[in-house]
Amino acid sequence: MQFDALILKVASRCNLNCSYCFMYNLGDTTYKGQPKFMSYDMIDSILEKTKKYVLKYDKKEFSFIFHGGEPLLIEKKFYRTFVTKANAIQEQLPNVVFKYDIQTNGVLIDEDWCALFRELHIYPSTSVDGTRKAHDMFRVDHKGNGSYDAVFNAVKLLKNQIGYADTVCVINIEEEPKAIYESFKKMQVNSVNFLIPDFTHNNFPFDTEKTEMADWLIALFNIWIKDQDRYKIPMFIGLINRLLGVTENINNESAVLVIETNGEIEAIDSLKACGHGFTKSGMNVLSHDFSDIKNSPLGKLYFEDSTTKLCAKCLDCPIKEVCQGGRLVHRFKKENGFNNPSVYCKDLIKFIANIQNTLIDFFPELYSKENIDSMKTDEIVRYVNDTNKNTLINSTYTEELEYFGIK
Ligand code: SF4
Ligand code: SF4
Repeated sequence: MQFDALILKVASRCNLNCSYCFMYNLGDTTYKGQPKFMSYDMIDSILEKTKKYVLKYDKKEFSFIFHGGEPLLIEKKFYRTFVTKANAIQEQLPNVVFKYDIQTNGVLIDEDWCALFRELHIYPSTSVDGTRKAHDMFRVDHKGNGSYDAVFNAVKLLKNQIGYADTVCVINIEEEPKAIYESFKKMQVNSVNFLIPDFTHNNFPFDTEKTEMADWLIALFNIWIKDQDRYKIPMFIGLINRLLGVTENINNESAVLVIETNGEIEAIDSLKACGHGFTKSGMNVLSHDFSDIKNSPLGKLYFEDSTTKLCAKCLDCPIKEVCQGGRLVHRFKKENGFNNPSVYCKDLIKFIANIQNTLIDFFPELYSKENIDSMKTDEIVRYVNDTNKNTLINSTYTEELEYFGIK
């Protein structure tokens, strides 16, 4: 179990109230029991445990990702204090580089915040769902007003003041992929980390017989791959690398440990979408080391087994090395925990096949030399759904996956 970054929930409240937010609006209300802001007292414990961890695992690089809620709600002094103390620790660790990132909704970004980011070398990433239509459908304030204008301006300000703009975009298939792609170009972003929405098998809103998500992603991919002046899309780059045999996690969710506002240690926060209190481990940075998280069942699954401990269908799947079962949250079902393929399974097959076939078109000689054929979505779907050939797995294995179900 190793990770290279901490997500620090420095604020547990938010100035927005996005309807798809797993922190507030998908059934987990544990944020109400959290202090509004991380206390200054927590900083020493976090840094002391970080030092212990990087020494134990001989890390060369380690990131602190300031997160929330909305991390710009906490005063700027908190960041100055944190980075000053972290720099002091780093001096004792000459072979380690500390990095600082912040994930913000962008509404509060102004010139003063940009100056702070420059001063402390904190790299911001802003959440923006592309166009006004896509963004304001979900990303609203507590009065229901859209936040697009403020965020659009914030991204442009960042580009202007600090020279780059990284963004995160939750995919909204109600909007045209072309409109989304071009809107980010207008913002002159450097990268867009597209995220597939956090649905489980219990609240999936799309028709599982259709592949609307794949069709949307394929349209975006086809625009992106043809654009000579394209911005970076980590999801696409990750999938291409994996199809070309470069080892890289594509599910955007490994290698981070979450520290809640009150110091609780948790596995990945998107799993809050699985139910109230689902991510709670009963551990706190004040009393536990980071690596203790593997002693919690969810911590063990997430950090050690999330790409290998798959349901029978996934274990049999011909593209499991590329898909890795999809993201954990997408596998969840109240009735049987994580003993399921991704709720986006058909989409993933279709999208991965499309990328593979595009790569074959680009590098025909390479693929024919390796004797690699194009992928056919229908064949893979049929094979995966053929119940006659599923791998036999023992009952203990099944019980371990189903342990997370909510009876
Ligand atoms: S900005 Fe982020 S934390 Fe705030 S409500 Fe929206 S998704 Fe949740
Ligand atoms: S494509 Fe479907 S069956 Fe294959 S690994 Fe992914 S989720 Fe599992």
